[in-house]
Amino acid sequence: MTTVSTTLTTELLLHRAGTKSYWRGLTYRDAVQSLRVHSRHVAARVRGSDEAAYAVELSWSGTHLVGECSCPHGSEGFFCKHCVAVGLVLLDRGETVPPPDAEDVELRDVLRALPAEVLRDLLYDQAAGDLKLRARIMSSLSKN
Ligand SMILES: [Zn+2]
Repeated sequence: MTTVSTTLTTELLLHRAGTKSYWRGLTYRDAVQSLRVHSRHVAARVRGSDEAAYAVELSWSGTHLVGECSCPHGSEGFFCKHCVAVGLVLLDRGETVPPPDAEDVELRDVLRALPAEVLRDLLYDQAAGDLKLRARIMSSLSKN
């Protein structure tokens, strides 16, 4: 199911991070902890040089690889060395960042377990600020 446009490669990591962060990321592979591949994203913790642990998330936005990290450089919006390290460990393990259209089994399972009242409140909060979603909900009443 994975398309060519959402394939994780070292070249893509280099392209996203730039040479400096990419080379620094190469030395951070051993610092990657608690790597977890979720339905549509990857989450990990990476130890920084000062022993602080940073939270890293990799995902796709369309065909764009997005890296988010809680370190100072990552917080400024850069694809930092910690994001590179997580990407490299994934590749080492033969894993990847799941495509954005992957079936989100985790989400379905949680939604199934939540009471209707909680779901209603969540959906209201979302739809009240999203005219398209609101229109979908309003039109589903007339279909039923
Ligand atoms: Zn970082």
